[in-house]
Amino acid sequence: MKSSEHTKEGRAKLTRRRFMGIGGLAVAGASLPANAWGVSSEGKGAESDKPVIKETRILGRTGFAASDIGMGAASLKESNLVRYAYDRGVNYFDTASTYGNGASETSIGKAMPFMDRKKIFISTKIDMRNDDTEQSLLDKFAQSQERLNTPYIDALLIAGVTNVNQLYNEAYHAAVKTLKADGRLKHAGVSCHGPRGVGDSMEKVLVSAVDDGRFDLMLLVYNFLNKQEGEKVLAACKEKNIGTTAMKTAPGKIKDIPTFDPENPSKEYEERIKMMMSFGLPREEAIQMVKGMVESEKVAREQTKPFLAKYGLKTEDQLWEASIKWVRQNPDMHSVCISMTDFNRVDKAVALSGMNLTKGQQTFLRDYKKTLGWSYCRHGCSQCSGACEYALPVSTIMRYAYYYEQGYEKLAMEKYASLKENNAMRCAGCTESCAGACPYGVMIRSNLLNAHTLLTLV
Ligand code: SF4
Ligand code: SF4
Repeated sequence: MKSSEHTKEGRAKLTRRRFMGIGGLAVAGASLPANAWGVSSEGKGAESDKPVIKETRILGRTGFAASDIGMGAASLKESNLVRYAYDRGVNYFDTASTYGNGASETSIGKAMPFMDRKKIFISTKIDMRNDDTEQSLLDKFAQSQERLNTPYIDALLIAGVTNVNQLYNEAYHAAVKTLKADGRLKHAGVSCHGPRGVGDSMEKVLVSAVDDGRFDLMLLVYNFLNKQEGEKVLAACKEKNIGTTAMKTAPGKIKDIPTFDPENPSKEYEERIKMMMSFGLPREEAIQMVKGMVESEKVAREQTKPFLAKYGLKTEDQLWEASIKWVRQNPDMHSVCISMTDFNRVDKAVALSGMNLTKGQQTFLRDYKKTLGWSYCRHGCSQCSGACEYALPVSTIMRYAYYYEQGYEKLAMEKYASLKENNAMRCAGCTESCAGACPYGVMIRSNLLNAHTLLTLV
């Protein structure tokens, strides 16, 4: 049998990872075999050296005592990971019908017989369309419920709301009312990471949802580089005793940008040159354009290396840990949903339960923001949208690249493909009217072209 590295898809994945200088985010240890931890569903017999959840927080008016570290299940395919996390004390699971086309919900469902249903909180998201009726939403819910293998679901969130009007969808509210009356659903909620090119800000959507009064739970973007909107949402939720959970919590990257040799471009730069040429540019001009982009990235390279040396960083784990702790230590955030892609990652995430930032980590994050804050396109931000001559959904495309880097390659590529021609190929043939439009210094064109390379099989 071929290893994934030897398949076309596997090669493409590795190539793109190398180009983006990822690798640090990939967990070093291999997954343990399914029964390696040797624990029962009650958690008895857990090895004493394994981390466990140390803190729970009341999830607003749902009244549930949620683990401060929750499982974000976007790329979940293995029920053993759910059982393992449960045995470590994780009791909050965030999934969606669209994650892996139902594979994530199915994995949780397979673990369900091994967990005490009353002691866990399952939040799933419904993919709501404009033409959905109460009945079609009830049908979608029934499919989620079957996959999750549960008599009831704790919270049904409207997935990725981009516009306030979606909050008032009467078909959704009618379905929620029916499901609650049947005892199949406990709470309604909203997830939001801002507009998709056009739409309303995350703050506007979620504060409107709070004001609406029918939602008990919010899933929002919140991290040390992107906190202003989130803090306003958290304050509104606190006032109305609404449950809060965080996503996109570790935005930082420590990447080394490869040098560009115009005479002998690496495979990744060759892909970029070909993208430019596909817009009719002669090769020499395409090379000059790539050269220009690499020049602007040089500043980035020059800032990254001393920063890494100053803090002795070898992998991105140190940044990841500090980022999660930063979110967790805000008591108004009830559970931090973390992508747990293998057993090692579960242990690392659970070890952060109850942990606050050290003084050194506070300085480190402050320094990162000052030195490398330009490297992160803020999730849900739309401040540069007016500057793009094609009105590209800049932060959405960069969010898909973020998903890819977090290990959700398939999901990221599918989402990017759904943008059709409204994608970053535009950047290869435009006049770069967005240059300098980002107040945080994000190099828009260069990042979008990198994202395109990452998210497509060029
Ligand atoms: S590039 Fe800058 S302004 Fe544009 S969406 Fe990203 S963070 Fe916002
Ligand atoms: S490079 Fe061109 S197409 Fe791309 S975001 Fe900027 S203005 Fe829009």
